[in-house]
Formats: sequence, structure tokens, C-alpha cells
Amino acid sequence: MANKIQKPRGTMDIFPNDTPLWQKIENTAKDVASRFGFGEIRTPTFEELSLFKRGVGEVTDVVQKEMYTFKDREDRAFALRPEGTASVVRAIIENGKTSDAMPLKYYYLINCFRYEKPQAGRSREFFQFGTEMFGTKDPSADATVISLADTLIRELGIKNVKLHINSIGCPECRPKYREALVNYFSAHTDELCDTCKERLNSNPLRILDCKSPICSKIASGAPVTVDHLCDECSEHFEDLKKYLDAMGIEYSVDTRIVRGLDYYTKTVFEFICEGIGAQSTVCGGGRYDGLMQQLDGPALPGIGFGMGLTRIILAMKESGCADIPEARPLLYVAPLGKNAVAKSLSIVSKLRDKGVYAECDISARSLRAQMKYADKLGAKYTLIIGDSEIESGKAMLKNMEKSEQTEIEIDNIFDILKEA
Ligand code: ATP
Ligand code: MG
Repeated sequence: MANKIQKPRGTMDIFPNDTPLWQKIENTAKDVASRFGFGEIRTPTFEELSLFKRGVGEVTDVVQKEMYTFKDREDRAFALRPEGTASVVRAIIENGKTSDAMPLKYYYLINCFRYEKPQAGRSREFFQFGTEMFGTKDPSADATVISLADTLIRELGIKNVKLHINSIGCPECRPKYREALVNYFSAHTDELCDTCKERLNSNPLRILDCKSPICSKIASGAPVTVDHLCDECSEHFEDLKKYLDAMGIEYSVDTRIVRGLDYYTKTVFEFICEGIGAQSTVCGGGRYDGLMQQLDGPALPGIGFGMGLTRIILAMKESGCADIPEARPLLYVAPLGKNAVAKSLSIVSKLRDKGVYAECDISARSLRAQMKYADKLGAKYTLIIGDSEIESGKAMLKNMEKSEQTEIEIDNIFDILKEA
């Protein structure tokens, strides 16, 4: 027998019992974003491979190990997007948006693809809400983007989430810091994992991000960026804290946060939810002032974040705010016979035109089975229509909650329900 076809490892099927929660998150995200003046941007699911190599960074895990790459029929190299920022930067440059009024403020709700080991809160196709702001380097912009994420998290009812912030400096202060890191880690070369041994030369900052217990133990004693910031970065960080304070956004400075992607400068931040397991970062972001130029665009500073929706759901479950009441029909019409079916269809179609959720039997079931189904749907009212009801124009309207029946003129159903 042929093997049963299954979904690819690390992907999800989501059914209508779960989609309302996804929709709530997506709708709240869109609503919050629009209150901050961010507009939705949509870009392709796949891009030229070189965009991510250059935009995300050659020596990041994402590019080296996690990308889904493929050649098309004309042998061109593409990749499924592993994140959203590089595509947005490409789209801004390609469409000449760099001459629009600044700052540019975009958000997206996208699927991303990374070849990772699937586990709770980590999948191979995952969903992100992300924001991008370009054209301001002022720390009030950083504070605004953080406030957007904070507002969304609060509006979803998530508790137990803490904001961690850090500054990782700029090309001005990074070399000195890099030197301090290399000095520190060189004394521990033998203990480092193989990847980190390589990182020591290629990208020592990444060692701070390593998930191996030994490396992270060594990293805990490493020099921290905030002690090596230049005057400009230091002032930027102080101002950010002041602006967050002004908005009443709580945070802690966490010198271990360096973020997994290469393009960050100055501000980096994570919203962390203790209690949803090892994959606890529900939202990560920061500033990337060099990225636009790195992709051959003008020197437009940028800041943004990516929020993992699966982890947001885990956090909502943890906070007990993930239960969405199921939609219940206001009316269920139970017809008996074809004339009654015709009448039922006309009633529900008028109600649906008026924006009301209504159902009627479309399976030619027995009355008993229909009433059972109406009950299962949680219909607030039911109306039973047979041949004699069609003739008299009158039928019994049952209030399912009160178990009360009243005889009504069928054609008055709209006014009666309106009053109810
Ligand atoms: P992590 O350290 O957890 O791998 P990252 O630094 O690779 O995260 P980013 O690239 O900053 O993550 O992505 C932003 C957010 O997207 C993360 O904070 C997380 O919520 C979510 N995310 C990233 N990778 C995955 C994944 N494989 N599955 C589910 N969510 C993910
Ligand atoms: Mg990762």
C-alpha cells in the first residue's frame, strides 16, 4: 500500500475550532498597527537567494543552516522567506519609496520558513506579525515601535511577558567591543562548541547567542556591549529608557540580548514569556541603521520587530485568555418538505444579507436530527416550518435558552428577531 501523504514536518493544519484565535490576534495586530499609523505591506513569499544572504548575513544560522532554497526551471536561485525585513527593504528600494514622506511605517502578517528542529514554539513554517519603520534614527522611534508591540501584547490579554532591552552599538563602537570579546573567548577556545570556535573569527558576537549550555555559561562572563558604547550610542540608549519610562512601559536592561540576525545596530529588544517553555521569546526586534545601504539603497535608518504568532498563542493559553466563544446562529430554521426548504432558504438568506448568522437544514434530515443539530450549534432561536405552516403563514418560534415557544407570523420573523 502506498504511504499515506502527510503534511511536511514542522508545518500546521489549522481548523475552524482554532482559527478564531488566529483571527483575533491578526485583527488586533492590524487594529493596533493602524492606530500607530502603520500600513500593511505585502511582498512575495520567495525572493532571490542573494537578498537574504546579503540582508540577513552570510554567517548567521538563518542563512547557513535554516533556509529553504531552490532553483527554478531556469536555474535561478531562490529562497522561501525566512523573515520579513529583507524583503521590505528590497521593496522600498525597488519601488522608490525612499522619496516618500519619512518615516515609512509598514506592518505585515506573513508566513516564514526555516529548516529547524520542530518543537513547542518552533516550527518550519511559522507566522509572524512584523513592523518596519525607516527614516528616523531618533530614540523616540525605537520607543514607539516597542510601544506598538507592548500595546498589542496587552490588548491580547497576555500577562507574564517581560520586555528586555539592550544596545549593541554601531560600526563606530563595535570593533572595540569585538576585540574585547575575542580576547575573552580566546581564553576559552577549547571549551567552545565547534560552531562557536568558527564564530570566534567570523562573528564573535554570535557566540553570545549560542544555545549550547557550555557556551552560554562561558558567555555569561563575557564583556557586555553597554560598557563599550560610543557617546552617541550611549546617549541613544539613555534616551530610549527615558521615553519608555514616560510611557509607563516596564523593561529591564538585559546585556545578553544580541539577537540572531546580523543587521542590528544600537537598540535590540525581546519580549519574553516565562512559562511557555524553552522558546520563550514571543517578539524580537531592534534597530538596523545599515541595512538599507547594505542592500544598495540610501542610508535610511530602520527599526522593527518580528512577533511569532505560535508563541503568542502559547502565551495567551498560559495567561488564560485564549478561549474565544464560538459563533452561534441567531436563528436555525427546520423545514419539512421542499416548499418549507424553499421558504427556509429565503428566510436565512435575507437574515444573512442583514448581517445575521442564520442556518437552516440543508441535509433533508428528520426533525429530530435537525433539532439535535440546532442544539449543537447553540442556536438562540429555532423556527419549525412544515406544509401547514406555509399554508397558514404562522409557525412556532422557540427560544432555545428559555425553552419557550411562541406562535408568530413567519413574515414577521425579521422584526421579531430584531427586537430580540
Ligand atoms: P530564536 O532565538 O527563538 O530562534 P530568532 O532570533 O531566530 O529566534 P527572529 O528571527 O528575531 O527570531 O524572529 C522573530 C520572532 O519570530 C521570534 O522572536 C519568534 O517569536 C518567532 N520565530 C522565529 N523562528 C521561529 C520558528 N522557527 N518557529 C516559530 N516562531 C519563530
Ligand atoms: Mg532562530
